[in-house]
Amino acid sequence: MIHEIRDTNFKGSGRVLSKRLYYEEPYLQEFKGKILEKIKIDGKPALILDNTCFYPTSGGQPNDLGYIQGVSIVDVIEDNEKIIHILKEELKGKINSEVVGKIDWKRRFDHMQQHLGQHILSGAFMKLWSAETLSFHLGEEVCTLDIAKEKLTEEEAQKTEECANEIIFDNRPVKCYFVEGEEELKKLNLRKVPEKTGRIRIIEVEDFDLSACGGTHCRATGEVGMIKITKWEKRGEKIRLEFICGRRARKDYFWKNEVIKNISNKLTIKDSELKEAIDRMLEERKEIWKELKEFKEKLQEYEAKRFIDESSLRGNRIKIINKVFEENNFQEVRGLVQKIINLDDSVVALFGVKNDGAKILFACSRALEYDMNGLIREAAKFIEGQGGGAPNFAQAGGKKAKGIEDALNFALEHFQEFIKK
Ligand SMILES: [Zn+2]
Repeated sequence: MIHEIRDTNFKGSGRVLSKRLYYEEPYLQEFKGKILEKIKIDGKPALILDNTCFYPTSGGQPNDLGYIQGVSIVDVIEDNEKIIHILKEELKGKINSEVVGKIDWKRRFDHMQQHLGQHILSGAFMKLWSAETLSFHLGEEVCTLDIAKEKLTEEEAQKTEECANEIIFDNRPVKCYFVEGEEELKKLNLRKVPEKTGRIRIIEVEDFDLSACGGTHCRATGEVGMIKITKWEKRGEKIRLEFICGRRARKDYFWKNEVIKNISNKLTIKDSELKEAIDRMLEERKEIWKELKEFKEKLQEYEAKRFIDESSLRGNRIKIINKVFEENNFQEVRGLVQKIINLDDSVVALFGVKNDGAKILFACSRALEYDMNGLIREAAKFIEGQGGGAPNFAQAGGKKAKGIEDALNFALEHFQEFIKK
């Protein structure tokens, strides 16, 4: 387990050991302690007591919260064997005076459920697949576990989860004790050899798992309630999986059930048939989109033909179509213009679109050798924008929608000789 010690400079005096009451009594919610030091951490008032049941962030488990003499605790950290309680505001008590601490039990018990759940899940991975736990993190929403395993199939994950939950249903006692010395440690056959030496704290799930850990855990596996692996992914050589236990698992089941119930009701389908029904609907949706696209294409082609038919032949040579669209989808207008110039080899299209600003589009049949790119660059100034494109197909965007007509008139003037009747 990695101990996360934050880099904080605090002014303290000497080395003081705070007794960790949660080691022996993880169910203790209230305690009395004496103030040993009053310090500042990053400008915030902080206390060191002679003993405490506040757990500091370490070993993948987050800190406890709660109150000391009614003052909120904002963080609890560990530094050089000291447990530092960071307070929301200054506390009145003097050095050596007695204070009462009370931890946020709901938060702590949640951490105990997740943490023992992790031991059980790690034990199950070891038992079934000889896969070692590399690290563990208890997050605000989910817990993660890194397992030394190349891949994890759906079936393997299910088996592991089943095995872990059977241990919960057995309601096996969880013991916690200290051992000292290499020989003693060797005898225990721990799931993972601890990096630390000296006095080591052992967490034992009866006849299932033995590991070294300084965190807080439930006294029996049944209190974990249930373990649910929610997802996993391969990360290099290892598998990172997310899991939840206890109240978190119940909460997760609650909302997922609500969502499924809601969707089944809306679709008037049994929840067990939902998966097939949604697959079917997605397939149908794909078909509908395909048909819609085909219809749109046909409609656009019809529209393009209409534009060409309605345009009068100018000067016996080219047809000029000019049109300003309001609130139209620019991509669709582009498609339309493309169709117009493809359908006829002597057409010039000068289009504008008023939609979130201004867009203009100048195009001509490939057979006509006009420089639409050069023309649009000049016309763009009327819409306070810029643009460009290919010689026969260019577009510009600007912010002045009112200038679209001017831009189009400017272009029409360019084709003056054809416009004259
Ligand atoms: Zn633990």
